[in-house]
Amino acid sequence: MRLLLIGAPGAGKGTQAVRIAEHFGIPHISSGDLLRRHIAEETSIGRSVRDTMRRGDLVSDGIVMDVLRKPVEAAARNGGYVLDGFPRTVEQAEVAYLVARDIGASVQVALFLDVPREELIRRLVARGQESGRTDDTEDVIKHRLEVYEEHTMPLLDYYQRRERLVTVNGSRPMDEVTWSVIVQLQKVRREFAG
Ligand code: AMP
Repeated sequence: MRLLLIGAPGAGKGTQAVRIAEHFGIPHISSGDLLRRHIAEETSIGRSVRDTMRRGDLVSDGIVMDVLRKPVEAAARNGGYVLDGFPRTVEQAEVAYLVARDIGASVQVALFLDVPREELIRRLVARGQESGRTDDTEDVIKHRLEVYEEHTMPLLDYYQRRERLVTVNGSRPMDEVTWSVIVQLQKVRREFAG
């Protein structure tokens, strides 16, 4: 299954993506994690994205596509992927579709984790205190939510019209969310198989 997650920062994409990946035996590919690894390893990509990420702005499409291309292609050849953090804009979705279509790697299901804004802020402030992520401070959090609302939310309409959009209430406890996500995805998978 080739799946991607859409959700605001703090919606639980990372947590759920890991669990979905484990359940279906497919890799979890996170654009944010790949970029943070470049920063930690001080590669030239890492140096070029560090300040952008610290501000909570979006990294350029070229760089993101560059870090994702190989892992996504490899995963698509081996049964699928759970993509987390990409695409962030309709433009990224359109380019990715054109690149992936010819090799049979384009996404089949978009899963939206729906969480109200107040709950997102509460979670992100708590995460910032625990993880020390430089983009989890209150000002940057607010900015990342604005970026999400302006650039990423239009993807819901995009996937609603094109592929399959599955919406799950993400404000419940983590295990309950995982449970309903897996039930919904199993249904979708049965439909693909049938
Ligand atoms: P995340 O871990 O998904 O919250 O991503 C953290 C940061 O990485 C974002 O705030 C962006 O700066 C950058 N980033 C991750 N994925 C993308 C993407 N698809 N397009 C642009 N920037 C991204």
